[in-house]
Amino acid sequence: MRINGTLINYYFHCKRQCYLHGNRLNLEDNSENVKIGKAIHKEKETKGKNHEIAIENIKIDKLTEEYLTEIKKSDADVEACKWQLIFYLKVLKDKGINRKGKLEFIEKKKGNNKVLYFELNDELLRELNYYINKIENLIKSDEIPKSLNKPKCKKCAYYEYCYI
Ligand code: SF4
Repeated sequence: MRINGTLINYYFHCKRQCYLHGNRLNLEDNSENVKIGKAIHKEKETKGKNHEIAIENIKIDKLTEEYLTEIKKSDADVEACKWQLIFYLKVLKDKGINRKGKLEFIEKKKGNNKVLYFELNDELLRELNYYINKIENLIKSDEIPKSLNKPKCKKCAYYEYCYI
């Protein structure tokens, strides 16, 4: 499977999740969390604020003259969201489109929204290439990473696959 933003996100969230998704075991549609994420996007679409843009194998939430914006429903895994955004910035850069990155967390229940900003540089690009390489090797591997046994597993689309 070609590396995409979801795989990058999963690599930081859980290596097993990355492996399963990379090997096309796709259970996301059953996940409550994924449904909530989709609902947020839908609501923004209805209000006319969101224009999801697809470029190659990535889907961008919002693109303005200055920023590429990625919208998330929780800031529980900032590192995973950050690298997904950096990956998108790189895909755009490769197409000659240079943008800064904006990460918006919309926590409906807590009502506290948070915004983080990123700018692509050589160091981030080097690190990203390193992770892409790791992910490619992980997906090709014959060994499936062990289950994490962490509270976040309860919200994961693969929970039943891993524990039941
Ligand atoms: S349930 Fe836990 S161990 Fe299994 S894929 Fe999800 S996060 Fe990883």
